[in-house]
Amino acid sequence: MGIQRKTYTDCQGCSLCLLPCPMWQQHRDVMFSPQGLAKATQSGATADDLQEQAASCIQCGACDVMCPENIALSSWLEELSEVIGSALNEVTKEPKLNGFVISCDPLVQQSIHVDDFYIIDAAPFHADYQRRVEHYTSLRIKTGCSMNLDLNRMAIPTGIGSEAAKQEKFNVKKQYQWLIQGREFSRVIVENHDDIKVLRELTDKPVVCIAELLESLDVRGEHAAG
Ligand code: SF4
Ligand code: SF4
Repeated sequence: MGIQRKTYTDCQGCSLCLLPCPMWQQHRDVMFSPQGLAKATQSGATADDLQEQAASCIQCGACDVMCPENIALSSWLEELSEVIGSALNEVTKEPKLNGFVISCDPLVQQSIHVDDFYIIDAAPFHADYQRRVEHYTSLRIKTGCSMNLDLNRMAIPTGIGSEAAKQEKFNVKKQYQWLIQGREFSRVIVENHDDIKVLRELTDKPVVCIAELLESLDVRGEHAAG
């Protein structure tokens, strides 16, 4: 039923996967991109040759959505790397009451304001792209808040919790700085609770998790049961 995904041999070198790739953003070296890794492998490079690059992938899944050849890039990179661990696998363990589900709640939506900066959890967003991009586009229009969506409507990831960040192959702080620089906001709302700690070190504005917004509605009795 699902569309058959291709593999690195089908890479035509169009470079589109570089645009949303945070690994490329940080290194500015095509070898730290799906294209570079695919082309190197086509030319005979082995997994051993590419360990450093493959291990810098944070498994955000943006390249999977962007690739016009429909190559399953993040799972291929996961296979390539010995250390990667999979953020995308975490998606299958996403709790039932996750950021996406909570953000569908009309009362939660009413508590999101025009001067909020809303950080979508990137890996689950890309793994369920068609449905979620529609939802967040409508949420953004409805609330007027800003979001970590780029011009291609990919969610810019923070990298928190990725194996690459744990192994210090991806600089999470640099990624947050890039996310917030030049933005005007009076509050940050995150879907991934783990984002809070680092963000609080980088901004004096309040940082809250969307689950806490839901809880605060329940505490105030605004959230009608059933
Ligand atoms: S999964 Fe994310 S970090 Fe990894 S190659 Fe794709 S876009 Fe880059
Ligand atoms: S987007 Fe796909 S086809 Fe284009 S360079 Fe990247 S991996 Fe290759």
